[in-house]
Amino acid sequence: MIDLTKDVLKKHYNISEQVINLYEEALGDVTNVFKELDAIREFNQIKVLKALQEERISESHFTHSTGYGYGDIGRDSLDKVYARIFNAEAALVRPHFVNGTHAIATALFGNLRPKDTMLSVCGTPYDTLHGIIGINKDENIGSLRNYGVNYKQIDLMEDGKVNLKEIEKTLKEDESIRLVHIQRSTGYGWRRALSIEDIEEVIRCVKNVKEDAICFVDNCYGEFIDIKEPTDVGADLVAGSLIKNIGGGIAPTGGYVAGKSEYVEQAAYRLTTPGIGGECGSTFGVVRLFYQGLFLAPHIAIEALKGAILCARIMELAGFEVLPKFDEKRSDIIQAIKFNDKDKLINFCKGIQKGSPIDSFVECEPWDMPGYDDEVIMAAGAFVQGSSIELSADAPIREPYIAYLQGGLTFEHAKIAILIALSKVLKN
Ligand SMILES: *Cc1c(COP(=O)(O)O)cnc(C)c1O
Repeated sequence: MIDLTKDVLKKHYNISEQVINLYEEALGDVTNVFKELDAIREFNQIKVLKALQEERISESHFTHSTGYGYGDIGRDSLDKVYARIFNAEAALVRPHFVNGTHAIATALFGNLRPKDTMLSVCGTPYDTLHGIIGINKDENIGSLRNYGVNYKQIDLMEDGKVNLKEIEKTLKEDESIRLVHIQRSTGYGWRRALSIEDIEEVIRCVKNVKEDAICFVDNCYGEFIDIKEPTDVGADLVAGSLIKNIGGGIAPTGGYVAGKSEYVEQAAYRLTTPGIGGECGSTFGVVRLFYQGLFLAPHIAIEALKGAILCARIMELAGFEVLPKFDEKRSDIIQAIKFNDKDKLINFCKGIQKGSPIDSFVECEPWDMPGYDDEVIMAAGAFVQGSSIELSADAPIREPYIAYLQGGLTFEHAKIAILIALSKVLKN
């Protein structure tokens, strides 16, 4: 870091000499890890480039359909580009998915029927899916449970691995299991993300017992972190958000589903209506941004990952427990930091907010967010509201006070914000 940069950080951002020294030590440690990531990034960039070229994308695909949106070639070709990237038969990429939760819900509702059972094999799924499944409550909100879809779960083992023996046993005992839900990312849990190899192992185990069970992967935060996606190793269906990795920070909203045609089609029937599926839905000029975001996504996802890795190392050097550690293999962009202290957690999030390009002057506070059980604090100063491929930190306010950091469109920005956040934590 040049002296002028240090001067600005100290004078303008109040960052201490101690934090700058920690940064320089951390950067030295992470450099080798970064090299491997650049190789993944290069491979995925080629994957995206090839897909765009093979579908012969041209300016005429930057459509601006209105009304029913019949024959929107920009939309239809984007589905094909995604299908190529996921090595899948089909995909459904739409601005009409309001978020990742909606894309996942659409995949689940589209493919489950009354008396079917959904089996989660990574313990309790991500918080916003609880209402969809009707996990703990029997509220009458049109949950899967309300429609007579049963739910079972198998917790991860002590070491964070999936319990294959239990999966095998449960599948043999319960004929009604129609869909196996695999969550790649950590969500709000102190656990490792499942690697592509872990996912492959689960799928093999499931298919051995029950060939026709749908292996569904919640792929949120996982895209372009590996050279393979879950669909490369046998997943039947995946879903995710466009304001995370795969939107490249450019997509202003949306989600996707990809996988076997029959399952993607069922999801499309749920998103719009039976019989109409993916053939309607105007895209009002947004597809160009989806294409451009996708093109940038392999680069941006690795920028975010580098920010997470730097964060892991510097926070560890500052004395905090982190997961994953800086040199562990990763499968999502999330960095968890355990503070064991409510104020430190809140100060960390406030520091990330202070380092944001947008709303840097805002103090973020814990609040009751829709879809979450505990109060949540969210630091997000993003160009796209709530975008978590942009630098963001959030935490449910519960012991042991873990913050989840993710995103960062540029490594440089993530670095500065992390230094501000750490300074705030150490000062208090
Ligand atoms: C982000 C996320 C979702 C979906 O969240 P949205 O905020 O609705 O996009 C689902 N599952 C996991 C694991 C996630 O990280």
